Amino acid sequence: MEFTGETRVLTVSNQKGGVGKTTSAVNIASALAGLGASVLVIDLDPQGNASTALGVPHNADTPSVYDVLIDEFPLAEIVQPSPENPRLFCAPSTIHLAGAEIELVAQVAREHRLRRALQDYLVDHPVDFVIIDCPPSLGLLTINAFTAASEVFIPIQCEYYALEGLSQLLGSIQMIQKHLNPALHLSTILLTMFDGRTRLAQQVAEEVRTHFPTQVLNTVIPRSVRVSEAPSFGQTVIAYDGQSAGAIAYREAAVEIASRVTQSKEK
Ligand code: ADP
Ligand code: MG
Repeated sequence: MEFTGETRVLTVSNQKGGVGKTTSAVNIASALAGLGASVLVIDLDPQGNASTALGVPHNADTPSVYDVLIDEFPLAEIVQPSPENPRLFCAPSTIHLAGAEIELVAQVAREHRLRRALQDYLVDHPVDFVIIDCPPSLGLLTINAFTAASEVFIPIQCEYYALEGLSQLLGSIQMIQKHLNPALHLSTILLTMFDGRTRLAQQVAEEVRTHFPTQVLNTVIPRSVRVSEAPSFGQTVIAYDGQSAGAIAYREAAVEIASRVTQSKEK
């Protein structure tokens, strides 16, 4: 696939935990790199699950996103290559990031820290995609992601409470649009952990597609044990078992995401 050289910045957000944010962030990133794109994943969750899945060290001494947000380290000083693909990079998170949410409150330009760091980084390190993995909250870390990105990517788990809380998330996006980042928009919704055998999953999927006809990807990610096993090997499922149903689905979703650029360019 051809990439235009323009950087797309997507933030993977949903204030619910366990809906597949991190899994989607790292697998879409790896799949995009597999398509020939250069990709930087920014791990904004103190849990550091994205760093783990990308095989990037992130113990307490590792220079991390914390140092970028609080001590204004250049991103270039903390970004590490992922062993998985030469075009795949990760700005790791460490446990220190848990305190950043509170420390940021007292900082100057606290909402813009990540955006500024990213802008500086991209001058010398142009990449096709930046994918930001957010923590499950709408605090200052997520606000930094919303201010740095132009696209919001929401993974939705097809279960009973899937749509609950979504209006709060959409409200936050609108507020950021108005006050901090007019370019921000909801570009992509991905249905995750889909179990097509249940009537409920199908109903939820239908409902989401009715509400967001242009944003929902055609590809849905099936529930698959291989997907959940991969991180314990420090890998995405793309590297861990590329022929599994989960890997195939994430690669298809990545193709959809990548080809949406071409569409907007042709208009
Ligand atoms: P979040 O980042 O939103 O908290 P995660 O991506 O960490 O969510 O996913 C939550 C849990 O569900 C993890 O244990 C993950 O391995 C598992 N999981 C995610 N996607 C799938 C899938 N398609 N099939 C099976 N398990 C999955
Ligand atoms: Mg996560």
